[in-house]
Amino acid sequence: MSALNENIARAQAYLERFRTGGVLHHIAGESTPAASGEMFESISPIDLEPLAKVAKGDPSDIDRAVAAAKHAFASWSKTPGKERRAILIKVAEAIEARAEEIAFTECMDTGQALRFMAKAALRGAENFRFFADQAPTAEDGQALRNANQMNVTARRPIGPVGVITPWNTPFMLSTWKIAPALAAGCAVVHKPAEFSPLTAKLLVEIAEEAGLPKGVLNLVNGFGEDAGKALTEHPDIKAIAFVGESRTGSMIMAQGAPSLKRVHFELGGKNPVIVFDDADLDRAVDAATFMIYSLNGERCTSSSRLLVQRSIYEPFCARVAEVADRIKVGHPLDPDTVVGPLIHPVHEKKVLSYFDKAVEEGATIAAGGAKVGEAGCFVRPTLFTNATNSMAVAQEEIFGPVLTAIPFEDEQEAINIANDVDYGLTAYLWTQDLERALRVTDQLEAGMMWVNSENVRHLPAPFGGVKASGIGRDGGDWSFDFYMETINVCFPRASHRIPKLGG
Ligand code: NAD
Repeated sequence: MSALNENIARAQAYLERFRTGGVLHHIAGESTPAASGEMFESISPIDLEPLAKVAKGDPSDIDRAVAAAKHAFASWSKTPGKERRAILIKVAEAIEARAEEIAFTECMDTGQALRFMAKAALRGAENFRFFADQAPTAEDGQALRNANQMNVTARRPIGPVGVITPWNTPFMLSTWKIAPALAAGCAVVHKPAEFSPLTAKLLVEIAEEAGLPKGVLNLVNGFGEDAGKALTEHPDIKAIAFVGESRTGSMIMAQGAPSLKRVHFELGGKNPVIVFDDADLDRAVDAATFMIYSLNGERCTSSSRLLVQRSIYEPFCARVAEVADRIKVGHPLDPDTVVGPLIHPVHEKKVLSYFDKAVEEGATIAAGGAKVGEAGCFVRPTLFTNATNSMAVAQEEIFGPVLTAIPFEDEQEAINIANDVDYGLTAYLWTQDLERALRVTDQLEAGMMWVNSENVRHLPAPFGGVKASGIGRDGGDWSFDFYMETINVCFPRASHRIPKLGG
């Protein structure tokens, strides 16, 4: 049997339980159907065949889940950090033990290639380990002494929180939110994306089997406009950590306003990779193509705009086109596949629409620009050249394996083009000139920048965007600041004069 057929057989075995039993909510430790009994169908992006029926959550399911989280919060928030750490480390170990099941399930549900998803499961475990290790000191504060006072700060978990995640790499992304929330002592209600709900169910089961008390992590499936909306409006939910589109973020901000919800937003991007003519071009080609064609280009940090100095624009683009043409598009479980099918026909239609738009606006399709086969949502890795920054393909987040290459003359023009978009998530800069790197990074409007590198995460470093790409930072202690309230207690150092009124 080929490696692909063997993987498909193993994946089918993992999926069987979802085919027969559906994907139910998980509330207070119990697998439970929607109160309404309603289900919706999740399809495979590989062949558009049904994968599983999924519980369709509504506000009454959210009410049940929030009540469970509120109940569990009372004891979880008081559980010593050391104990929380021990439990969360066990969760990390359990994720590692089931990494293949998670990876195969994720591939079938999202269409992401196994070569990337295998690591995504392990990165999920790493997130749990990293934040678990900080649980024992999460509440620690500072003593701020001045001439008259001793101020003592501390942090307390904010309360039950809502986590709303997108469909692109759902397992890794949800652990990135859920692990610090749990480490901080919060209880969680998770609403995963309707297009890829399977691994969220695995996560809550794994966590409870590893010892997470019931009700600390709850799962409600369903659509954004009913289950998602109800979660953001619920008065007992104290904060919403959201990853998704910018326009959804602004809806969530409005929905959460009446209950004064704290929000953390990781939103869209239209990230530039800027290549100067003094760069190590071999490495720059590899990094630029990796950052747009890995993970199907369905990646918030993808380098979807390639800004190349005009003196090297033609040969550099030719090399990128060559790489794009060589990339294998295929079944996500084929070990050789780089680009799998896009998540859903609705999203595929959006991505394909940009092929026509690019040509209408005068860009050239230098690679790809076509659907692959009839069944499934497969598209060729695509490169648009001769583009200008005002074109839709340069301004709008396409969220597929689609790169728009724009020439620039000099440093200032590169900065102007890079900044001339609504988004500001990441930027990538290629130059051998250190002073130029410092000047340019100083002026780029992006929350995260990499110089002479693709996106390599360092968990203690801040993660997040500026402009329409987000509000707030994750990573390291920034995550704890979001999931906790900082309080201050003031002690006068000596008996001081208190103003006397009315006498
Ligand atoms: P989306 O905004 O359509 O959906 C994300 C989640 O929000 C889903 O669970 C959805 O059901 C829910 N939702 C939708 N409407 C809602 C509402 N009114 N109230 C509450 N919840 C609602 O995003 P998507 O299409 O699933 O994901 C792709 C987007 O995610 C892209 O824009 C991508 O850039 C972004 N993303 C950002 C990051 C980052 O770290 N900045 C990471 C990954 C993905």
